Amino acid sequence: MQNSVSIRDLSLNFGSVKVLEHLDLEIAQGEFIVLLGPSGCGKSTLLNCIAGLLDISDGQIFIGGRNVTWLEPKDRGIGMVFQSYALYPQMTVERNLSFGLRVAGMKKDEVEKRVARAAEILQIQPLLERKPANLSGGQRQRVAIGRALVRDVDVFLFDEPLSNLDAKLRSDLRVEIKRLHHRLKNTMIYVTHDQIEALTLADRIAVMKNGVIQQLADPHTIYNRPVNLYVAGFIGSPQ
Ligand code: ADP
Ligand code: MG
Repeated sequence: MQNSVSIRDLSLNFGSVKVLEHLDLEIAQGEFIVLLGPSGCGKSTLLNCIAGLLDISDGQIFIGGRNVTWLEPKDRGIGMVFQSYALYPQMTVERNLSFGLRVAGMKKDEVEKRVARAAEILQIQPLLERKPANLSGGQRQRVAIGRALVRDVDVFLFDEPLSNLDAKLRSDLRVEIKRLHHRLKNTMIYVTHDQIEALTLADRIAVMKNGVIQQLADPHTIYNRPVNLYVAGFIGSPQ
């Protein structure tokens, strides 16, 4: 079976600074991959390359067997959830969920069906008429996930979606995201610097340092058989 996401020999420079160098990553259909590493190691840059938000310097990116290297973000079949929610403040939750679909010209009844399904899955039906300012951080992040969900895409990209939430909400939403993955069985690429999130969510963890993947393995292997002191220190030590 072809892989869901293939990253081949990807390099990205900001000016003369090499942020990602000759990076390869193969992700299977339905896999939950966590990109883990300290601040500044290139996690967001890699995710933004996959999303098409950054032009890469070299290499190729395939999603669902298609070479998407030069496609616009909207044509890549991905949904993205950011740390900062990125909701439209002037719109209701319902509008936030439906806006992109309407703009793309989708029929009204299909839009309504998708919004209703996402609201049900994320348990945000009572919030549909509210505006983002009247939501808690956890509720906002559910809406942000809902916005990826309505697009019905095969690949979800998350960039530290829980970092702005307090500890209790973080663990609640972590469970929610895991449940979402069990239900949808889509491919998820999830960026975090939090070892607990990585160990509890991932099928495989890619531990990154200075734009290079140091180890790519399942949580058990990463935790018990780190390939070097860097991986051992990062995943073993508390924040
Ligand atoms: P992470 O998400 O792991 O914290 P980033 O991918 O945001 O790391 O950043 C990786 C490196 O690239 C950092 O050294 C950062 O300073 C640099 N960087 C990120 N974005 C830009 C940019 N737009 N211009 C120049 N350097 C950048
Ligand atoms: Mg980042």
